[in-house]
Amino acid sequence: MIKKKILVTGGAGFLGSHLCERLLSDGNEVVCLDNYFTGQKQNVVHLLDNPFFELIRHDVTMPFFIEVDEIYNLACPASPIHYQYNAIKTVKTSVMGAINMLGLAKRIKARILQASTSEVYGDPTIHPQPESYWGNVNPIGLRACYDEGKRAAETLFVNYHLQNKVRIKIVRIFNTYGPRMHPNDGRVVSNFIVQALKDEDITIYGDGSQTRSFQYVDDLVEGMIRMMASREEFTGPVNLGNPNEFTIMQLAEMVIRLTNSRSKIVRFPLPPDDPAQRQPNIGLAKKELDWVPAIPLEKGLVKTIEYFASVI
Ligand code: NAD
Ligand code: UDP
Repeated sequence: MIKKKILVTGGAGFLGSHLCERLLSDGNEVVCLDNYFTGQKQNVVHLLDNPFFELIRHDVTMPFFIEVDEIYNLACPASPIHYQYNAIKTVKTSVMGAINMLGLAKRIKARILQASTSEVYGDPTIHPQPESYWGNVNPIGLRACYDEGKRAAETLFVNYHLQNKVRIKIVRIFNTYGPRMHPNDGRVVSNFIVQALKDEDITIYGDGSQTRSFQYVDDLVEGMIRMMASREEFTGPVNLGNPNEFTIMQLAEMVIRLTNSRSKIVRFPLPPDDPAQRQPNIGLAKKELDWVPAIPLEKGLVKTIEYFASVI
């Protein structure tokens, strides 16, 4: 007996593919929509034999019509090199994608969850970051196409909810890693693991003292599903992240140790507007969703290293 029909935009990406997999194994029918900008068919090829899975090439900047019970809106490049590659397109994907998916949710009365980001906090002056913090974003900086696009998407979600009673859910995702990150994605975990496995130099930007809090993908997927199922009045935004905070230098050292690598650490200039610190306050997720991340960094890194060792 199929439980729900669910649309996942950006479903062929890193997070989307894990979400599709989990929703299917929970007994749902899943429609995966992607334009393959940063995602790939390879990420969902193992799902194609499942009669309850459907893969559609589509760009969310164009309207899309379907009947579903729930929509998870993940379509958007997430790594700085990819979202900066075509900054205008990144804004369009966030803003027009949100408008198209919210319009669809309004018409079919579906619940819709937005994959927002810790980047809405910019380079935060409050630490750790609670959902009530408004952020410190440079609106004309290199990261603005992503940060401001995601902030505008949150605004659209809230206003479709207030004006049109659309049933919204917003999650602010902190740095998430795991199998199926693209090897050339440019994000720090994939870069360091690939470099370490090839005994190449580990590229630290700046002095490595900037911090991030890394969450394993399975913990995030659990949080997203709990958020979608949460009580109607709880719209978020809610932080989903692992509060364990590490410097980028600590991450590099851990990856070198876990891979027994001969790689050396080399320094490159810190990109502009690179946040100095980031750590989620997850009190709200604990209270509303009874959710806390379960997988510590070292354990998640071991699984991720196994994956990259098998694909590179
Ligand atoms: P990803 O790049 O692997 O996945 C994004 C997917 O969206 C890709 O499959 C890509 O092809 C697709 N896409 C991009 N533009 C599209 C468009 N116009 N139309 C249709 N599909 C499009 O990145 P990810 O890490 O899986 O991120 C998924 C979502 O989660 C993104 O919205 C991202 O902003 C958000 N997020 C991720 C993280 C993280 O650490 N991974 C953190 C915060 C937020
Ligand atoms: N970073 C690094 N070396 C790399 C890739 C990234 O030192 O090869 C740094 C980057 O400057 C940032 C942190 O790692 O301070 C996290 O970068 P990522 O692109 O993964 O995510 P975001 O900055 O969006 O949190």
